[in-house]
Amino acid sequence: MYDERAVYLVTDILKDGVARRPAFGANFRFPFQCAVKTGTTKDYRDNWTVGYTTRYTVGVWVGNFDGEQMRGVSGVSGAGPIFTDIMTFLHTPPYGQPPEDFPVPPGLVQRPVCARSGKIPGPACRKTIMEWFMEGKAPVSVCDVHREFIVRGPDGRERRETFEVFPDEYRPWAASERIPVPPPGARRASSAAPGSERIDRLSIVSPSGGEYFKIDPVLRREYQKITIAGFVPRGLSGVVLRINGREDIPFGPSGVEWCLQKGMFRFQLQGRKGDAVVTSAPVVINVE
Ligand SMILES: [Zn+2]
Repeated sequence: MYDERAVYLVTDILKDGVARRPAFGANFRFPFQCAVKTGTTKDYRDNWTVGYTTRYTVGVWVGNFDGEQMRGVSGVSGAGPIFTDIMTFLHTPPYGQPPEDFPVPPGLVQRPVCARSGKIPGPACRKTIMEWFMEGKAPVSVCDVHREFIVRGPDGRERRETFEVFPDEYRPWAASERIPVPPPGARRASSAAPGSERIDRLSIVSPSGGEYFKIDPVLRREYQKITIAGFVPRGLSGVVLRINGREDIPFGPSGVEWCLQKGMFRFQLQGRKGDAVVTSAPVVINVE
């Protein structure tokens, strides 16, 4: 017996190009969902890459049959390119078809979180990512790392600036990373300040607006999707994503996966609270 959800989480990490990048660099980029893991013996004697899609499992081993050491070849540079070629061949016409996406088992939910704190994104957060959680385990508190301060500039004028304020146990790390701290005399922006109440409001948290996306002419269109993620406060019902003021798509807790199309798009969330219609601030993106 195995925990289907645990397997899925591993799959999600292994198929997640962003999560893989620190270890694998730009290797293993597929226009479809594919989980990948590599292995290298300590002395570079041999290496392997195994992976799977919903259609195929592929394992590649590279080494000398007499067990002699290879020179500086890891699972990424040795078996990796062969694995990539085979997987691509198996899922590309005329030989094969792209695989289906990995099914999401019941009991998992996807939620937008602040990339730094892993909590619910607040108005000062810089980057939002979508993360998987077991139902009931998603974060319930708003990011307290990103905080707005009022600072006095060299010209003597006051302005608002966001700083990252970490819990005590991370302070030495933050200092070693040279993460800026609020200058002396800076004070917390008041919670009644404009914008700070936004976290309670219906809002689109990703994309943040003003982005340009480019359609890849080679990649199949169904793989060129972005996730429109948002914050939906309690008590709102019938929330939809409204595109360019007309097309409405039902908006669930994990957002909406939207296929890129050329043009300028204005996204807005709209829901109902009792008899009142509640609308989020619009977010505009460009797709070329
Ligand atoms: Zn944050």
